[in-house]
Amino acid sequence: MLLPIQDDTSSIPLSPILAMAQRVTELRAQGHNIVDLTLGEPDFAPPAHVGQAAVMRAMDPLGYTPSNGISALRKSICRVAQDDHGLEYGDQQVAVGCGAKQIIFNAFFATIRPGDEVILPAPYWASYPDMVRLCGGVPVILPCAMEDGFRLAADVLAQAITARTRWVVLNAPGNPSGATYDAAQLGALADVLRQHAHVAVMSDEIYAHIRYDDRPYTSIATVAPDLQNRMLVVNGVSKAYAMTGWRVGWGLGPVPLISRINAVQGQNSTQTATLSQIAAVAALDGPQDILAKRNEIYRQRRDIAMAILSASPALNLTPPDGAFYLFPQIIGRVGDQAVAARLLKAGVATVPGSGFGAPGHLRLSFATDMDTLKEGCRRIVAALGSDA
Ligand code: PLP
Repeated sequence: MLLPIQDDTSSIPLSPILAMAQRVTELRAQGHNIVDLTLGEPDFAPPAHVGQAAVMRAMDPLGYTPSNGISALRKSICRVAQDDHGLEYGDQQVAVGCGAKQIIFNAFFATIRPGDEVILPAPYWASYPDMVRLCGGVPVILPCAMEDGFRLAADVLAQAITARTRWVVLNAPGNPSGATYDAAQLGALADVLRQHAHVAVMSDEIYAHIRYDDRPYTSIATVAPDLQNRMLVVNGVSKAYAMTGWRVGWGLGPVPLISRINAVQGQNSTQTATLSQIAAVAALDGPQDILAKRNEIYRQRRDIAMAILSASPALNLTPPDGAFYLFPQIIGRVGDQAVAARLLKAGVATVPGSGFGAPGHLRLSFATDMDTLKEGCRRIVAALGSDA
């Protein structure tokens, strides 16, 4: 029987990450031993005080909250923006949603008119282009070469902007590249944006706390405060505090944009869960030492994985500045999907780079324990070596 809905689902493809994760589940159910390096979430538990704060309130009558969340959460978000970035945002400049993902979707939904263009530097987080299309927009993909650190150059941006450009999305540290920008690189992008007042900037900073240099995080919002009236800064608790399942993310921006995002939020899920908001306040207001400790663990994993994989002549690797992915280029073999399929046969799951707009690469997550990671990397080296 046909469902009374549009039966063409091709415009809503399954994310390549979820597709590979499903394949892993199927193979494991058949008894195969698969090391899964596809995962985009921390393998840690949230800090203990987060769970405790939620448990304390779990039996209370928790009702709806405003669609932009409880005021305690908005206050904590504004304080963190001030402490981390030196940025001042008022209470009405905060949107809260079910993860950074919903904020990004809401922002596109609230602003994209049919045919509007959204500039996405590639490699990009796989969800951006699908979200843009679902909102009626046109993703404009700008490939950023590995030799350029996977960063968007100002002249490339300048050439891509048209009268239809609605958004430019920056994501640093990047998923999957791990690339970050310094103040000079962001300043050059800001100079271009100043010449195009109709273009809004989205800065997705969800991995800002997971970084391997010792410099403070540099946001385009700090570098170009004059662009704040057309900039949305996105963040959340998912990656930094290992709270992916709690679903709390936020956006900071100008009041007219935030009001529209809140209106969309109000109609699609009212708010994110009240208990999750309480947990997010505990994460933001509680001790922060866990961030540095976990960063150090990720750094050790990154370095070990790089050391093992560098034995393979089939991979060209650069160390990521942040996030928890390696994004090696495949050398001497055709087709990242074929290579990922071959690796899966050899017992290790990775995500082909074409899902991130960068064919010829593989994404490997090191958000997994050291033994699993080492075993996965060894399997990759062995599998790629055997067909040289
Ligand atoms: N932005 C990027 C670049 C991501 O990689 C992810 C999650 O993988 C998100 C946003 C969404 O995060 P959240 O769990 O807060 O929705």
